[in-house]
Amino acid sequence: MARAATVTIDLDAIVHNYRLAKSLAPDQQALAVIKADAYGHGAVTVARKLQSEVDAFAVACIEEAVELRVAGIRKPILLLEGFFTADELNYISEQNLWTAVHSDHQIDAIASSNVSKPIDVWIKIDTGMHRLGFAPDEFMAAYERLKALPQVGNLVMMSHFSSADDLTSPVTQAQLEVFDALQAQCPIPMSIANSAGTLMHNRARRNWQRPGIMLYGSSPFSDQPALDAQLKPAMTLTSEIIAIHDLQAGDAVGYSGTFVCDQPTRVGTVAMGYADGYPRQAKTGTPVIVNGQRTRIIGRVSMDMLTVDLTGLDAGLGSKVELWGKHLLANEVAPWADTISYTLFTGITRRVHRKVKG
Ligand SMILES: *Cc1c(COP(=O)(O)O)cnc(C)c1O
Repeated sequence: MARAATVTIDLDAIVHNYRLAKSLAPDQQALAVIKADAYGHGAVTVARKLQSEVDAFAVACIEEAVELRVAGIRKPILLLEGFFTADELNYISEQNLWTAVHSDHQIDAIASSNVSKPIDVWIKIDTGMHRLGFAPDEFMAAYERLKALPQVGNLVMMSHFSSADDLTSPVTQAQLEVFDALQAQCPIPMSIANSAGTLMHNRARRNWQRPGIMLYGSSPFSDQPALDAQLKPAMTLTSEIIAIHDLQAGDAVGYSGTFVCDQPTRVGTVAMGYADGYPRQAKTGTPVIVNGQRTRIIGRVSMDMLTVDLTGLDAGLGSKVELWGKHLLANEVAPWADTISYTLFTGITRRVHRKVKG
């Protein structure tokens, strides 16, 4: 009836993973980070499922927040990247959005606005990532200015880790020290923990955790099987075998013939390619599951198809193929394409059929 390429989203898994994040800091609060269409899982669907239990949501920008408000989501939503132009401020105020503020020009814009209700502001501090935020020695001035403005409501201090997924890196500790030194001067609520911080850095857990990738059941760590066992993968990408060819030693497979059979090889063609969001960079050897059995991709991934090794497997036309999901972690696939699970999840395109469970 139809091309089988399908992404299945398990909403109960996301609820489970959010509860896990909350359980790690039960007296504190946690934003559910659903930017980038909930990391490709569908922001509106995920928000509807989570809204009765999350403390608040976070997205990157106002466009993403508007989508949620239009869909009837009422919880507060933090704009992690802040606002870009002053004309966003009225909507932010009216719709109970919270905004990151990372620079003086944004404070100027708020000061010249005439918003109807005060806006809650998360002051972004650069504690070492050097991407966005006030330098530590600029923080107090920014805080004092914001505090004095009638257009501003509650204040939170936030920062972001650059290396929390590397447990051997001294940078996380150094960032926390900078953050704590500012907190000593200015005791307002704090937020620094992303998923890696929430899961593995006790000292990073503050008033607000900001779990993202872990909500989708993917660990930010590549080498923590105990965490993998606690998280439930929410996205499963599947398709089917649409053709089978028995090749001889010396036969080449796919574009540029990058894979050459060294023995008689049964090759299965799968309806899944880079235009579906499967990474073209995935090398020969990338794991894949066919009819419940692990095998590997061989040859180049093309736009609409890829090829797998079926030699010695119990598989035929129409056999189910799992590219990643419940039985094969995206974290295991990602390094074969020199990437991370985040890009796999956010890369699924609209050609892929979507199913939602739960
Ligand atoms: C995306 C994002 C997060 C979530 O990060 P994960 O690694 O997905 O948990 C947290 N904070 C900020 C500022 C972000 O941009």
